[in-house]
Amino acid sequence: MYDYDLLVVGSANADLVVGVERRPGAGETVLGGDLAVHPGGKGANQAVAAARLGARTALLARVGDDGHGTLLLDSLRSAGVYTSAVLTGGAPTGVALITVDPSGDNSIVVSPGANARLTGGDVRAAGGVLGAARVVSAQLEIPLETVAELVRSLPEGTRFVLNPSPPRPLPAEVLAACDPLVVNEHEARVLLGDEGAGDDPAEWARRLLALGPRSVVVTLGARGALVCDASGARAVPSVVVDAVDTTGAGDAFTAALAWQLGAGAEPVRAAAFAARVGAAAVTRRGAQESYPTAAEVAALGA
Ligand code: ADP
Repeated sequence: MYDYDLLVVGSANADLVVGVERRPGAGETVLGGDLAVHPGGKGANQAVAAARLGARTALLARVGDDGHGTLLLDSLRSAGVYTSAVLTGGAPTGVALITVDPSGDNSIVVSPGANARLTGGDVRAAGGVLGAARVVSAQLEIPLETVAELVRSLPEGTRFVLNPSPPRPLPAEVLAACDPLVVNEHEARVLLGDEGAGDDPAEWARRLLALGPRSVVVTLGARGALVCDASGARAVPSVVVDAVDTTGAGDAFTAALAWQLGAGAEPVRAAAFAARVGAAAVTRRGAQESYPTAAEVAALGA
């Protein structure tokens, strides 16, 4: 028996957002609106999304011993995430400093802080949690070496899902473990090398599969997703919704997909469910604040 349906290994950030009339240039100071602080980071987002859906979800992450760390732990716990593997200290909590202008364009500085201090040693020390989860999901807002150590530490038979964001070249041992590798259009292009990637998502999926993962899922925003494995590429339709804010949609999709695959769902069905979760998430503002419960996903139209 597993204690957790899903273990997420990844980042936790405080997103500090200020609205401005115009984003500042070099050497310039501009006055903005009131500061808004939101819990974020791809790891924490995925964990909150899965827990909101009803998955027994644990997070392995590192936050600072500071107010932002407390904000994140509160958000995780109120969503029902098991936080005993969230480590504290070593550096300030990661933050994203975000300025947004009236057209919605933003400028972002990320200080990884404690996320950069989540080490392979932390992964090895968390061995019991790794063995207690059906499926393990990671992203790349923590050191790549930590993700590589995670892959080496996974018990035989534990499924591994990776969203390589922010994208960078991946070692063969990490690629080989992914089932699936989950990418959006930007991540697919970077992993394939921008030139010559072409415009056909099915072709990206086939070429990504040739890099070594056991399966690939390409998310296509309002166009849904593609699932690709040795048996070929299959399209998964999206749900038509009024999109208000797409922040964190990919994290909600990946969390839902990983949970459903771990529960034994067939990949296209799992991705179709994940697409409904992603669609529900874009109908509300924010990332973690926008994530639906299972009942809200069920209530979404076809
Ligand atoms: P990311 O947030 O990583 O860029 P996507 O934009 O591809 O990822 O979104 C992830 C998934 O969320 C999509 O595959 C889709 O299922 C769902 N989704 C995103 N945007 C929309 C939208 N405007 N309408 C319906 N579903 C959406």
